[in-house]
Amino acid sequence: MNAARKAVGIDIGGTKIAVAAVGEGGAIQHSVTLATESATGFPRAIERMSQAIEAVIAGAGWQRAEILGIGIGCTGPVDAFGGVIHNPYTLPGWDGCDILSPLRKRFDKPVFLENDADAALLGECLAGAGRGKNPVLMLTFGTGVGGALLLDGRIQRGLNGDHPEPGHIIVASDGPECCCGGRGCLEVLTSGRGIAAAGRAAGLPDARAVFDQARAGNAEAQAIVDRATNAAAVAVWNLCHTFVPQRVILGGGIMDEHFALFAPVMIQRLRKATEIPQRGMDIVQAALGNNAGIVGAASLVLTRVS
Ligand SMILES: [Zn+2]
Repeated sequence: MNAARKAVGIDIGGTKIAVAAVGEGGAIQHSVTLATESATGFPRAIERMSQAIEAVIAGAGWQRAEILGIGIGCTGPVDAFGGVIHNPYTLPGWDGCDILSPLRKRFDKPVFLENDADAALLGECLAGAGRGKNPVLMLTFGTGVGGALLLDGRIQRGLNGDHPEPGHIIVASDGPECCCGGRGCLEVLTSGRGIAAAGRAAGLPDARAVFDQARAGNAEAQAIVDRATNAAAVAVWNLCHTFVPQRVILGGGIMDEHFALFAPVMIQRLRKATEIPQRGMDIVQAALGNNAGIVGAASLVLTRVS
């Protein structure tokens, strides 16, 4: 391993952009966070990100010439090959913008783009819970539900390089309507937004109140939590039978707090499965938290540029 391998990783979300100088093995040397403020326009965002890139390179004590490139994980959908962002709901003002060309021109380095769920999985596989495992499936339960699969070191893609959306597999065909056109999707039943919506119908203000009240013995809240854990277990059952992963990683804000509530239901269910291996397959909590995306974004560079 060459200790001198250096890259910049950028994780773009709807409200925050994290930028970090990342060394070999995914070690974060220096990082800054800025507000996304996508509605203020794309040229301004490129300028602010460029300044942040300069700042983390300087903060790490590096020279610009030393970095191998810049990797970006962005809330999707994105065209990873063309470098174009297609997310008018989360990133208004940036839709159809090419993020790669202006950064390549300014820094004269390779720049790569990936969906944020893919970047998080790459980060976990470089420096977290996915190291040395293959295939690895990651599901992130936050405001929405996302996921990604790494097979033989490569991200699983579909038509036109598009990113699979396991948050929209249907786990209860008579369930609530989802924004995607389906009904009873994993996301509508287990995301923070979905749990909060069910909570409000039961007079509870948000997802946190649902979990708190369930713990306190409120039967309505418990039913929402049971529906969420059951939906997640059905989804993991289906995905394990489809992809036969060696490891399933559960991340995102909901799993950061409630892994111990969800994972045993999944594991108990899978123990009954006769058609997939019972040995060597496991379910673990994500290890890198909010840093998975920036480490994975940097890994786009560290693993591709020699
Ligand atoms: Zn859906």
